[in-house]
Amino acid sequence: LIRLENIRKSYKLGNNEVPVLRGIDLDIDRGEYVAIMGPSGSGKSTLMNIIGCLDRPTSGNYFLNGSNVATLDRKALAQIRNREIGFVFQQFNLMARSDALENVMLPALYAGTPAKERKVRATELLERVGIGAQIHQRPNQLSGGQQQRVAVARALMNRPSILLADEPTGALDTRTGEEVLALFEELNAEGITVLVITHDQEVGDRARRMVRLRDGQLESEASQVMSAQ
Ligand code: ATP
Ligand code: MG
Repeated sequence: LIRLENIRKSYKLGNNEVPVLRGIDLDIDRGEYVAIMGPSGSGKSTLMNIIGCLDRPTSGNYFLNGSNVATLDRKALAQIRNREIGFVFQQFNLMARSDALENVMLPALYAGTPAKERKVRATELLERVGIGAQIHQRPNQLSGGQQQRVAVARALMNRPSILLADEPTGALDTRTGEEVLALFEELNAEGITVLVITHDQEVGDRARRMVRLRDGQLESEASQVMSAQ
């Protein structure tokens, strides 16, 4: 599903090129649940932005569903992104003035899905993530954990290939974070590919596979045997 080949990314700082990703090779199959871990500043969000088609690498190949997206222009990249990637962020990033249902329907509006279908699917997804009774509440009328569930439902709206989450539990207390991770596990068991970026070891331990980033390079990889299912 995802193949990264010698991905490099550097940022221009004045006259200098500062390397952030220094040759990343990574394969992720459909249906996997992978955590990318690493200390602050190691390049996790930079890598997520590339995998999520929000940004392009300076060099290297990125095959997503078989096609090389590393060299696409911004417009083509945005199209692939809307179709293939569902994002979940630390700060939820919901629209404050819109209710849960409107938030979840929004990506399908951009994708041109008919209104009736948008509403049916968004309602189903909100029920799926346990927010069925609160679909007309705005973000500030929901708890942090509920807001993140709405964000997960929104991420799934366009039936993406990959659910990509950057520090999804960073703004949540332990118990609420746990509920969101349990939701990820359920969705993964239903076949969704999940990629979680985190510096929290406990979050990383929940994934089936862990990849460590240090100073812009992948360090080691440990496949983990899931205990009880
Ligand atoms: P954190 O755990 O704190 O979120 P991270 O692993 O996500 O850290 P990145 O955000 O990927 O780290 O940043 C990696 C490095 O790249 C940092 O040194 C940062 O200053 C630099 N960097 C990130 N984005 C930019 C940018 N747009 N322009 C210049 N430098 C950047
Ligand atoms: Mg980050």
